[in-house]
Amino acid sequence: MIPNLSPVDALVEAKAVKAFALSDRVWEMPEVNFEEARSSAAHAELLRAEGFAVETGVAGMPTALIAEAGRGGPVIAIMGEYDALPGLSQVAGIAEQKPLAEGGHGHGCGHNMLGAGSLLAAIAVKDYLAQRGVAARVRYYGCPAEEGGSAKGFMVRAGLFDDVDAALCWHPAAFTGVNRPFSLACAELQFSFSGRASHASSAPHLGRSALDAVELMHVGINYLREHMPSTARVHYAITDAGGSAPNVVQAFAQSRVLVRAHSLSEMWDLVSRVGNIAEGAGLMTGTTVERKQISGDANLVASPGLEGALHAVLERLGGPDFDATDDAYAAAIQKTFSTADIAASYGRFGLRPIKGEALSRIIYPLGAGSDHAVGSTDVGSVSWVVPTVQCRVACYAIGTPGHSWQLVAQGQAPAAHKGLQLAAKAMANLVVELIEDPALLARAKADHAAFRAENPFENPLGPDVVPALP
Ligand SMILES: [Zn+2]
Repeated sequence: MIPNLSPVDALVEAKAVKAFALSDRVWEMPEVNFEEARSSAAHAELLRAEGFAVETGVAGMPTALIAEAGRGGPVIAIMGEYDALPGLSQVAGIAEQKPLAEGGHGHGCGHNMLGAGSLLAAIAVKDYLAQRGVAARVRYYGCPAEEGGSAKGFMVRAGLFDDVDAALCWHPAAFTGVNRPFSLACAELQFSFSGRASHASSAPHLGRSALDAVELMHVGINYLREHMPSTARVHYAITDAGGSAPNVVQAFAQSRVLVRAHSLSEMWDLVSRVGNIAEGAGLMTGTTVERKQISGDANLVASPGLEGALHAVLERLGGPDFDATDDAYAAAIQKTFSTADIAASYGRFGLRPIKGEALSRIIYPLGAGSDHAVGSTDVGSVSWVVPTVQCRVACYAIGTPGHSWQLVAQGQAPAAHKGLQLAAKAMANLVVELIEDPALLARAKADHAAFRAENPFENPLGPDVVPALP
């Protein structure tokens, strides 16, 4: 058992069952980017029942919400997510790949746990403030479309974090701890090429192939790779190949390109080079190209004071209290991984693999593995405007790949609930510490202000970019 070290732990435990039910319910109705109507409503319903003032449809996104409790004092944000991934439908609690609904969605990034764990922390803080009569406000941010929708960036752009003093978040993982933030700034762009259709055999000279242009653009991008910073990334997907008939010259074709780089300025430089490549592909093929930005996230900004404080809270709480039944299921899941998968999972945090360990119960050293390149997150944009801190909490088997059927399968397991509860305790404890120790919060804000004074921020979502609503 995790020992109860602070009064807020008991408040988390008292409401934990409600959060487990919410997590499981959201798992049951996986909804993707900006389609999270029912998941968002389930969050709003529980928040209202708990006495929060809830505002839905914020920042022009129907599935985004903000819920507040408390009065006066500092404002602490706890961010949650609830979006799923397409094509990852999977039966829960088994150790073989078996879709629940053919072609259906699934919670392959554990955002069902993420949303419910953050919400549980917000409820516990609300109860703490009410019990103690402390002047402070806790605000739950229901953030949709983390998987490529940049919802938090749109919330930042709408000024919804302007009066926030600190922001917290967590993510389900195989290990528990706090990283020194490292994520890549990113932007997703859609390139639409228009040419001219014609009979591919009898009149090929009259056609101008948009598909050729897409192919040439991708070839150009692949030549770009050698001449870009080694931490940068460019990925693409053909979202419209212009039809299935090879005997028609494709008049229209579309590709989405995701550019990632260490900093926003490096990213915009690459975006402009990719744009030139697209123009070149258009010139070569006699087609025209239109470009539209879909999303954009800033890289994460560190908040060393908050990171140290959250790490200390986790050390005090200890790792999740997994039991032998949890281990047995995680071990069965691990049988579907290669030894390389498992070694890579340890390696990411600079940890030595332990033979026979299926679930991690440790807190990894502060900042372990932070130099490893990871993906991007829309928490990045929040971290530029508010001191922001996140932790990872073990919820599933060591070696579980992100965005995999194995992760979906483990999303309702008791281990997931235990991780979710530990995450809620960690965040709730830190919020209480920030409220009770104004100096800690003041230092975090001063450090952040000093960083910002040296590093101006421009939201990668310019005024013309709109949320990619369905
Ligand atoms: Zn995620």
